[in-house]
Amino acid sequence: MNVSVVVFTCDLRLHDHPPLRAALDGSRDVVPLFVRDPAVDAAGFAAPNRLAFLADCLRDLDAGLRERGGRLVVRSGDTVAEVCKAAAEADADEVHLAADASGHAHRREARLRRALEAEGRRLHVHDTVATAVPPGAVTPASSDHFSVFTPYFRHWSQHPLRTPLAVPRRVPVPDGIGSQPLPSRGAPGALSPGLARGGETEGRKRLVAWLRGGLGAYEDRRDELAGDGTSRLSPHLHFGTLSPVELAHRARRVGGSGAEAFVRQLAWRDFHRQVLAARPDTSRTDYRTRHDHWRTEEEALADIEAWREGRTGYPVVDAAMRQLHHEGWMHNRGRLLTASFLTKTLYVDWRIGARHFLHWLVDGDLANNQLNWQWTAGTGTDTRPNRVLNPVLQGKRYDPGGDYVRRWVPELAALAGPAIHEPWKLPGPDRAALDYPDPVIALSHGLDRFRTARAGDTAACS
Ligand code: FAD
Repeated sequence: MNVSVVVFTCDLRLHDHPPLRAALDGSRDVVPLFVRDPAVDAAGFAAPNRLAFLADCLRDLDAGLRERGGRLVVRSGDTVAEVCKAAAEADADEVHLAADASGHAHRREARLRRALEAEGRRLHVHDTVATAVPPGAVTPASSDHFSVFTPYFRHWSQHPLRTPLAVPRRVPVPDGIGSQPLPSRGAPGALSPGLARGGETEGRKRLVAWLRGGLGAYEDRRDELAGDGTSRLSPHLHFGTLSPVELAHRARRVGGSGAEAFVRQLAWRDFHRQVLAARPDTSRTDYRTRHDHWRTEEEALADIEAWREGRTGYPVVDAAMRQLHHEGWMHNRGRLLTASFLTKTLYVDWRIGARHFLHWLVDGDLANNQLNWQWTAGTGTDTRPNRVLNPVLQGKRYDPGGDYVRRWVPELAALAGPAIHEPWKLPGPDRAALDYPDPVIALSHGLDRFRTARAGDTAACS
């Protein structure tokens, strides 16, 4: 075989890349192709933070390929049409692609297979590129996917992981295959000022630092809002600049309770992908309806705006929302408590929150975002769908010294200790001196409304 095309999508790396390895093993030359598809943009991908991170990733991928004698070929248009065009130009026999979980990815794969076969070419889809354990690899006896994480994790942990692949030494690309210029980062004004840099080189640096410095204490520190004791590898997993298979192997090699807890989070990622692959509609509709009559954008506009802008009057909620805008990333504990606040305390439709997160998050990911929102709203896979996170208790527990709030809510920087989580309790003149809003809702009112809405269910507060 002479030439293969490798289509890069959610796998913008050279290390541990099964499609690239298979193409190099079977062909003399390879066309590494990235297609900027307007349909993906229209589906919500095209948010400034992610486009900037993507531009970094593509530049780095191109540089890595050039070091190996190749280059990245960039095209824009419908993925199927562009892949077929590139395959025809290179007279390729085969096309290699990473499997993905969304409905869009499944439809794209089916269309591509048909179009290529009509031209006498073959499509190979590789399923352990974006996940460590692919959707469908472990299933319960009575269903095509697990709906509860704990039994899923038991099976996931016993499933053997393939061995990570070495980075290729050379990637020979045929002459005469035209490419558009690499996309640029976009206007800085639209980006989060503290946005991380993308690319495989950056991801690998962060991984090494994490394995040496953070992983050991992960289990104890992962919920500390101010301590920032998590890996921050999520954008690299989302764009595939790091491989989940490699991450799981390397963490297990370090060992210990931190590594175990970290690998468990990688399993959560795969868990949500196997739910989305089996139920693609859950990116928009409830996984398990609780017959909610959520407040809509029109009904709750002022509350929703306060939440989006980080001025709800609940310091830990506001701190987390401001972190999101500033960094394009938010601590997991912040995501949990801001999502609970919007859905259960303000009783606003989870889709409104999920859309806002997808606009800002550099790791914004259909499976992880929508299904975590559903988990928090109680319409997803949570086995305790009526738990409500109390932002004062959460703040005191996970930011006991108030450092996280002080970092992100400068209006409260002068307040010391846990009192920062209840500024409304300050004596009158001290409270009046703060340029900080009163709470948009009394927590007891939110809880009553939620209990009424989920009549018959018992809401538990923590
Ligand atoms: P670490 O704690 O270091 O975890 C390592 C990796 O495990 C993460 O990078 C991520 O890939 C995976 N992971 C961790 N927690 C989860 C989880 N609860 N579910 C699935 N995978 C997980 N994660 C995204 O990648 N994209 C999203 O769009 C996203 N939206 C979320 C929305 C809400 C409302 C909530 C509650 C969570 C969301 N998460 C999302 C999951 C989680 O918050 C992030 O993955 C995590 O905060 C990323 O930081 P980290 O890389 O430091 O995580």
